Amino acid sequence: MSSYSLNDSQPITRVMVAGTGVLGAQIAFQCAFSGVDVIAYDVDTGCLDRANARFDELGHIYAAQIGATREQIEAARARIVGNIDLGSAAIHADLVIEAIPEDLAIKQSFYRTLSALAPADTIFATNSSTLVPSQLVSFTDQPERLLTLHFAHDVWKHNIAEIMGHPGTDPVVFKRVVQFASRIGMVPLPLRKEQPGYLLNAMLIPMLLAALGLLVNDVADMQTIDKAWMIAKGDRIGPFGILDGIGMTTVYNVTRALAERTGDSTHQRIADYVKTHFIETGYLGESTGRGFYRYPDPDFLDPAFVAA
Ligand code: NAD
Repeated sequence: MSSYSLNDSQPITRVMVAGTGVLGAQIAFQCAFSGVDVIAYDVDTGCLDRANARFDELGHIYAAQIGATREQIEAARARIVGNIDLGSAAIHADLVIEAIPEDLAIKQSFYRTLSALAPADTIFATNSSTLVPSQLVSFTDQPERLLTLHFAHDVWKHNIAEIMGHPGTDPVVFKRVVQFASRIGMVPLPLRKEQPGYLLNAMLIPMLLAALGLLVNDVADMQTIDKAWMIAKGDRIGPFGILDGIGMTTVYNVTRALAERTGDSTHQRIADYVKTHFIETGYLGESTGRGFYRYPDPDFLDPAFVAA
């Protein structure tokens, strides 16, 4: 089945990260911090300038949050080379990690071009949050080396990598990507089959929707719902704190699409509630200082919150 010249024991050492936005920059920096040479590919120099600012910021975060030394940060920066020419960016890549916008037409065009330019044994891994690899298969000539490598936001601390193939993904490719995820400090979470939402979101989204449903159906107020989760599960954050972290724009996009798809009245009430209370008010969650809670000191972090 596999026509690869590379084998299991040959580690992935040269990575191209395509798209250097929120997640792409984090993935590129984490790879480089772990000793991997990275080509950071984006569409123009303005994007690469913004990526450099993101790398600067990530250097500060790694120093503050995981005690990275100045030498480690400088070494990581030195391993990242920006490129806006896809052909020369891809030519030496063992692995392409694609983190370009969540838009099927953009991804289609990217994979078509990449397939024609990348070496025959380059692995293509998408970081897509909503598309399963089967939806991208027809965009490449090499479906057996296509799979998903999905990271979570803030990769250095939420260090899971969900690895998911489609039925035609070569098991050797899959295994090499699992090994690579470990190498860059992730906990690899291999899936045996395609699953929208992977593992985490397949569990988390139903829980969050249930919490929103309890709120909009006036079963209890948000603090009471959060306390039920936090006290009984021993968590420091409940569903409404999690929703603030995700950001209300994403929450609205997801709930509106769900309401349209299902026609369910609770889903529609949730979408309407999010629109009225957050989208129209600009209270878009933690990043804007206000969502369900006010930041940087939300009530739920006060020990008294779960004590009364
Ligand atoms: P983003 O909008 O922050 O960044 C996208 C980047 O891709 C930009 O730098 C843009 O210039 C670049 N780009 C656009 N077209 C391109 C092309 N043809 N070739 C190369 N680069 C191109 O997006 P993001 O939030 O980083 O999301 C990227 C991917 O990662 C999406 O598939 C998303 O579902 C996934 N993801 C995002 C998160 C998250 O929390 N943001 C988490 C997990 C997965």
